[in-house]
Amino acid sequence: MLEAERKQGQFPMLEMSHLLYGGKEQFDKFIERQSFFDNHPMFKVNHDFFNLSRQDQILLNAEKTVEAMKKISLEDPNYYTPNVLCPQGIFISTVHFAMVIPAFQVLASDEQIKKWMTSLKNFSAFGCYAQTELGHGSDVQNLQTVAVFDKQTCEFVIHTPNIEATKFWPGELGLYCEFALVFAQLIVDGKGYGVHPFWIRIRDKETHKPLSGIQIGDIGPKMGYAVKDNGFMSFDHYRVPLDSLLNRYIKVNREGKVERQGNPKVGYGSMMYMRNILCDQYTKFAGRALAIAIRYSLYRKQFKDDNKQEIRILDYQCQQQKLFPLLAEFYACVFGSVKIKELVNDNFNKISRNNDFSLLGLTHAVLSGAKANYTYFVANCAEWCRLSCGGHGFAHYSGLPIIFFEMSPNITLEGENTILNLQLARYLLKQLQHIVSKPTAVPSFFKFLSIETAKVDDVTSLDGLVTLLGLNCANLTKYAAQKLMSNPDLKESWDTKSGIALAKAASTFIPYFNMLCFVDTINNKAKDTKQILTVLARIYGITMLLNNMQGLLLKNQLSSQDITTLQDTREQLYPIIRLNALCLVEAQGLTDNSLQSLIAPKEGDVYVNMYNFASKENSLNKQQVHSGINYIQKMREVNAKL
Ligand SMILES: Cc1cc2nc3c(=O)[nH]c(=O)nc-3n(C[C@H](O)[C@H](O)[C@H](O)COP(=O)(O)OP(=O)(O)OC[C@H]3O[C@@H](n4cnc5c(N)ncnc54)[C@H](O)[C@@H]3O)c2cc1C
Repeated sequence: MLEAERKQGQFPMLEMSHLLYGGKEQFDKFIERQSFFDNHPMFKVNHDFFNLSRQDQILLNAEKTVEAMKKISLEDPNYYTPNVLCPQGIFISTVHFAMVIPAFQVLASDEQIKKWMTSLKNFSAFGCYAQTELGHGSDVQNLQTVAVFDKQTCEFVIHTPNIEATKFWPGELGLYCEFALVFAQLIVDGKGYGVHPFWIRIRDKETHKPLSGIQIGDIGPKMGYAVKDNGFMSFDHYRVPLDSLLNRYIKVNREGKVERQGNPKVGYGSMMYMRNILCDQYTKFAGRALAIAIRYSLYRKQFKDDNKQEIRILDYQCQQQKLFPLLAEFYACVFGSVKIKELVNDNFNKISRNNDFSLLGLTHAVLSGAKANYTYFVANCAEWCRLSCGGHGFAHYSGLPIIFFEMSPNITLEGENTILNLQLARYLLKQLQHIVSKPTAVPSFFKFLSIETAKVDDVTSLDGLVTLLGLNCANLTKYAAQKLMSNPDLKESWDTKSGIALAKAASTFIPYFNMLCFVDTINNKAKDTKQILTVLARIYGITMLLNNMQGLLLKNQLSSQDITTLQDTREQLYPIIRLNALCLVEAQGLTDNSLQSLIAPKEGDVYVNMYNFASKENSLNKQQVHSGINYIQKMREVNAKL
């Protein structure tokens, strides 16, 4: 049945695969990496994994990490992100490689890097990133762990002054790491110098027990992330040597003289590294969820047509409405993430080669908005894909719940999404000012803020959609600016009067940005895929406008007739996507083992798959009469006495 669906595809699959992975070379490498996991018995997906206790899941994951590193580099983000490649939980060392080492590279002095980098890379110094505390996460400046310089001994005394200051959440802290990058308030001679990073041994090299003066443990089960040992840690006047302070930007000498040096803005570099990975790699999870939901919607039939033939659920317009806008958004985010990666690299090169910070503000703003937009999208997409698969979507064997569980935390970690949108809002307001005072300083991506009105002949064309999405964001930004300025106390106004308007304005920027990147891909990279990509881009643009057109409505720049036209056009485009849907998700090149789903094999009988799992593999059925039955007898006894 699926072969017939594949034949209906109207575009060359390989060209699409190359576009999705950013080129032929990248796609080929992906296929090579995937085949390692497909061909290794330990990485064959085991749906009974979810019957295991958390303890056992953690141990199995540890075993898999060791096995994987015999063949692959855990340092390469293509591997250490779960992408499609780490079945059922991310490897140990993701935080170490994605957060600790990048932070170390930008915050440590050259001597410190020389001293530690080899041990960091070969795990003899295995660390966690200990910033968040019980009482403060987003508000990093108000962390309460202190590092007080003791002139007598030339040491820092790291201390947790109260329960709120307990470090809480760092991944790999609970069970594994021996070192921690601890962020603490630096205090010298009674004077506070703000939050700075300290590289500290926290567990004994031989026994692996926490060192005296430090308490450590795992914080407990979470929604997803079962195999990750997010931990807690507190310090009781724990002494560390002077060179524990990572001192690229701040130095304390033996006499207690504090000296700041260089540009601390470089510190943003490590945050950008992880946010870029969240945009680039983790967005692929939406594609994985869509591949499952779309394949399943072709296998699954409900109700009969006039010819007494059962109808595939993907043929229902309502099912298309659930999945096709998400499919279009997946493509939009992938093309957006390619541009973001370029921006991040350009910024990094400018800073490291020429000490040129000219792209920092722009990159930080776009990346903040994209991280917020894409991580919301991926979790939302996983949830809608699950819902679109009815009852089977709720079972772990569908492969969908784990995507939602593993992706939801990304909304909160590495910068909470609302706060990131507010950071983008700040940048939007700055550019709005520049439009008047310094128009040449406004980066091209933000020139749309000068648009007041636009004459759009066809609201559903690519050009029309780009213009309207830009105008929508510009209007909302101006509205938010007015709201902010209407209160003389700007800080109070920002926090308590205009936050909603500011976050909303920011949330409409990335749809505009994605649309620009989509159009650029169609015009400059696509060849024989132009037509189908244009259909997807139109669905994306229309959906983004229909979801949030408040900016245009504020100024009567969209009529009810326009809204009807947008809705009708989107519906008219769905049949084209229906023909191509399977090929559009299969262009990702994901194997059955990568999809980790019994309801969406490349070929096969999904009902046999599910039945076989339930009847043969589900370990709960291993005892013919389960010991839980004893409680039924007890219930009867209790009932008899009532
Ligand atoms: C799975 C996972 C892994 C993690 N790993 C690590 C790690 O390895 N190392 C580490 O140090 N930390 C880690 N964290 C912690 C994470 O970085 C923080 O949870 C995150 O920064 C959010 O901070 P918070 O929990 O204090 O949320 P809060 O800031 O308390 O947010 C709670 C709510 O308040 C709102 N809010 C807060 N301030 C404002 C404001 N100014 N304006 C408007 N709204 C506001 C937020 O939008 C949100 O809705 C991890 C967290 C998770 C979930």
